[in-house]
Amino acid sequence: MIRVVLSGFNGRMGTLIAKTVAAADDMELVGGADPLAATDAVEVDGVAVAPAFTDLAHALEETRPDVLVDFTTPSAVEGNLRCALALGIDCVVGTTGLAPERLEELAASAPAQTTLFHAPNFTLGAVLMMLFAEKAARYLPDAEVIEFHHNGKKDAPSGTAVATALRIAAARDEAQVQSGAPGKETESPGREGARGANVAGVPVHSVRSDGFFAHQEVVLGSAGETLTLRHDSFDRAAYMPGILLAIREAGRRSGLVIGLESLLDL
Ligand code: NAP
Repeated sequence: MIRVVLSGFNGRMGTLIAKTVAAADDMELVGGADPLAATDAVEVDGVAVAPAFTDLAHALEETRPDVLVDFTTPSAVEGNLRCALALGIDCVVGTTGLAPERLEELAASAPAQTTLFHAPNFTLGAVLMMLFAEKAARYLPDAEVIEFHHNGKKDAPSGTAVATALRIAAARDEAQVQSGAPGKETESPGREGARGANVAGVPVHSVRSDGFFAHQEVVLGSAGETLTLRHDSFDRAAYMPGILLAIREAGRRSGLVIGLESLLDL
């Protein structure tokens, strides 16, 4: 049995992850942490499945899990990971907002054999979209990322959008492709932002609205043609297979592991 503590169990993702982990035959949810936990138990459909803590350090000391799963907030995640990694607990992290160099530094601070796994997106379709965008960027020089999320999302741009832009930039560098699209210098005075955020030379646009869940388009262009890649996820259920896979793989890896694609045979 893989013993799991879930950080952020009260959140939108946390609620479904608790249910999914509790139902997995090879996993045991041994605790949940959330600062405003109002009950002393993590509940799934009204049934207590694990003890609840308001303080993650306390949860980890009490339960000594194999894996910490963190879906919290950009401001909380770093402290949570420091706490778990110092104890040699493998971490599976979905919380976005952590810079790559910070992840590297956190992984390096952990005892050998400890895994820090982070995926900016746990859905298979989004991972494939990123890989296709990376391939297309070698041939179609102009590329822009437009992501659409529900209006409860606390960070912008999304981690998936940033990861996609970085992959496009790396593919361009490798293939020595240069975009001819104009940048922020063409924005009208007083209307700054029209060309989006510049992430490694790729414009990224974030739309936030009721009605959306998580969606992303990558529009690539060359003379006389465009290619649009689009991924839509409609429900948090889309993330669960990837999260279970990461929990299972965490004990078989070590160090910093980034992206669901590194666990898949693609
Ligand atoms: P959410 O509903 O706001 O849930 C976050 C939860 O974490 C809240 O219950 C929050 O409590 C709690 N929390 C805050 N600080 C904490 C701490 N120090 N220790 C433990 N729990 C803490 O957000 P969500 O929609 O579930 O998303 C959570 C994160 O996952 C976000 O960063 C989001 O972008 C990311 N995400 C990633 C993926 C992916 O595939 N990688 C998919 C979906 C979401 P309070 O409400 O009291 O602050």
